[in-house]
Amino acid sequence: MAFKLEPGIVTGTALTDLYDYCQEHTCALPAVNVIGSHSANAAMAAAKEVGAPIIIQVSNGGAHFFGGKFLDKTEGAVAGAVAAAHYVRSIAEAYGVAVVLHTDHAAKKLIPWVEGMVAAGEAHFEQTGKPLYSSHMLDLSEETLEENLQISADMLARLTKIDMALEIELGVTGGEEDGVDNSDVDNAKLYTQPSEVLAAYEKLQPIGPFSVAASFGNTHGVYKPGNVQLRPDILENSQKAVVAKHGNGPHPLHFVFHGGSGSTPEEIAEAVSYGVVKMNIDTDTQWAFCKPVKTYMDDKDAYLQSQLGNPEGPDKPNKKHIDPRAWLHLGEQGMRDRLVRAFEDLGARGKFGG
Ligand SMILES: [Zn+2]
Repeated sequence: MAFKLEPGIVTGTALTDLYDYCQEHTCALPAVNVIGSHSANAAMAAAKEVGAPIIIQVSNGGAHFFGGKFLDKTEGAVAGAVAAAHYVRSIAEAYGVAVVLHTDHAAKKLIPWVEGMVAAGEAHFEQTGKPLYSSHMLDLSEETLEENLQISADMLARLTKIDMALEIELGVTGGEEDGVDNSDVDNAKLYTQPSEVLAAYEKLQPIGPFSVAASFGNTHGVYKPGNVQLRPDILENSQKAVVAKHGNGPHPLHFVFHGGSGSTPEEIAEAVSYGVVKMNIDTDTQWAFCKPVKTYMDDKDAYLQSQLGNPEGPDKPNKKHIDPRAWLHLGEQGMRDRLVRAFEDLGARGKFGG
């Protein structure tokens, strides 16, 4: 069966259908953190190349950067997130791609950020019948399970009214990202318990669509392997715990794989086979953007010392080498190429009629 979404932002039941389709066809979509139009364009170019939908997300820091680091951090993160959504909404059709728009980790102290974005989403919904974003994430994994699920349930009740979904986190993703350092967290917390996933399912499933970032030894960032053992079977055991009680197998839960960077294709395939529909990728795409820019700067070093004068002559102009378009586009291309590989690792290439 070919599954083809119209270009534009995927929301509401279309989003649930998309994730269900991914599970039925054993594939997942990359969720790429963007920080401005350059990285957003690279993400959409990758989706265009493989003919599949893509998940574009901003973290709190990424949203602030999108709006500009010149802005106040708190207000800038809301304004930047709203601007990022409007930007992608306005140009996704030109790329001819379907985009899931999402925001990344929001711990308890960042709930006001999420509330600011939801208020903008509600206003947008009132005007257009569509939310700004497809979904938001709340990461209350540092709180008790009860508090995590209660706040998440209240948020989901609000989101579902405007055709939005929620991603929650159970257990802690290791490593460091966006200034949150979990690299020394207790090892037991790096593994979600199937009983917690069952409790989340029973609390949230009656309210609206949600996905779960479960921890199975995955970490943010790329580290030397060996410190934490990756155990994707935790995902399978969590699916089974829900199916055993509710009989709605094989994969009642939409799982999110955080910290996909640095994972082997085999690890990714195994996680996808247990119902992962979304894999976050950030560190690998940061590197893919940075590396060609560094190569350019190194290769063109003699042309980037001043506006006039290079090895071809003391009065030769360097304008075309200095122009940020010359080197930023190399970064965009590097990021696009890395994301094409992510689509392939996730089994998504060729599954969407593209
Ligand atoms: Zn994460």
